[in-house]
Amino acid sequence: MANYTKIVSVLKKICTSSNRDITKLVTRTKPNAELLINTESTVSKSAVMQHSRISKICDTVNISPKRMTLKAKLREGKLVSTTNEIKIPKVKLKAPRPGFDESLESYVNIIKNNKFELRNICSKYEQGLLNEEQFANEYAKFLANKMDMPYYPELKQIISNKVAGGMQNTTNTLYYNLSGMNRMSDLMSTINHEMHHFLQQKEIFSTISIEKFSKLKAKSDIMAILKENPNYCKSQAEIVQKIENQAKGYIQEYRSAGWDKIIEKYPQNTNPNSPYYKRAEKLLNSELNYVDGETNISEYMSNLLEKEAYEIGAHTQIEIEYSVLNTISKKEKDIAIEIYDCLNSPTFRDVPGANEVLEAFNRNPYNIIEIVKEANSMGLHDSYSILQRIL
Ligand SMILES: [Zn+2]
Repeated sequence: MANYTKIVSVLKKICTSSNRDITKLVTRTKPNAELLINTESTVSKSAVMQHSRISKICDTVNISPKRMTLKAKLREGKLVSTTNEIKIPKVKLKAPRPGFDESLESYVNIIKNNKFELRNICSKYEQGLLNEEQFANEYAKFLANKMDMPYYPELKQIISNKVAGGMQNTTNTLYYNLSGMNRMSDLMSTINHEMHHFLQQKEIFSTISIEKFSKLKAKSDIMAILKENPNYCKSQAEIVQKIENQAKGYIQEYRSAGWDKIIEKYPQNTNPNSPYYKRAEKLLNSELNYVDGETNISEYMSNLLEKEAYEIGAHTQIEIEYSVLNTISKKEKDIAIEIYDCLNSPTFRDVPGANEVLEAFNRNPYNIIEIVKEANSMGLHDSYSILQRIL
């Protein structure tokens, strides 16, 4: 309660400002496949508890019959076996173009500006003309085309009770898990999140180079092993050798995944003073210091790679519900975004409970919409009153 005064002043400032600072670096190494934590994960007890608290508030939300059908449809969705690999056509290779845009605004604008096309894809799914896997592939193709991506990764279903998706850079595979998803927007938002990881990796490779990145990653891997097990190497020469071998292995994997060809198709950032170059360096450091969600959920979610991807996931899901699926009003959309951006701002980092709520929202951005709808029915019609109620 004592924090309300602080929150009031903070909210006033944040909600009227469009600038968000997103940098926080952390420590440790990254696994091969990045795993996007979903609502079924048990990684953080406090986040899960917070999640159930939010669910309680949401219990009385009236879900329209249309949304119920979608939920049921996605629930009934058959899971294909992992051996039945999906081959999706790669979009035609295009010439590199300057100013390739992978900003948050760009993702949101793609949805806003192409809502009829997206509505068409969604209604094909609703009519049963596309199954979940075809729907996922159609959406990925749509996104890649609108972003003018010369290449995008292959999509595959993953069966897991812990993650909603993943991006494996060494094979260029984007994974999604249908079992934890209830809405079409859950799937589209997950694809946006993972596709952004592909683009982050592209940005690191085309700016820093595959070779340099592989060496740095190999060094960071071997150092992490040595920290755990000081007897892993007998001499300095052995350390150097191990790093070299590991780097060679990475270079080979990235090349066979086609990365050298992929980055040729994208604009290169060679000027160290350009904002693109600076961002690529930050992304590189974030990857070298990556922490997975099971190890430390708040470090994981505040890693720049994840922070960007979760922000894109939440904003696009809310936009899809508004522009494409028409399940929320403009006012509800604006409030949902305001609440998310407030919680996601650095000023809220130290507000008790704010991180847990943000984690719960990142796990399932549709929770924000349910909260806003529930709050409306309770007579709360602005982000400030709603945040007061949930924090
Ligand atoms: Zn991620």
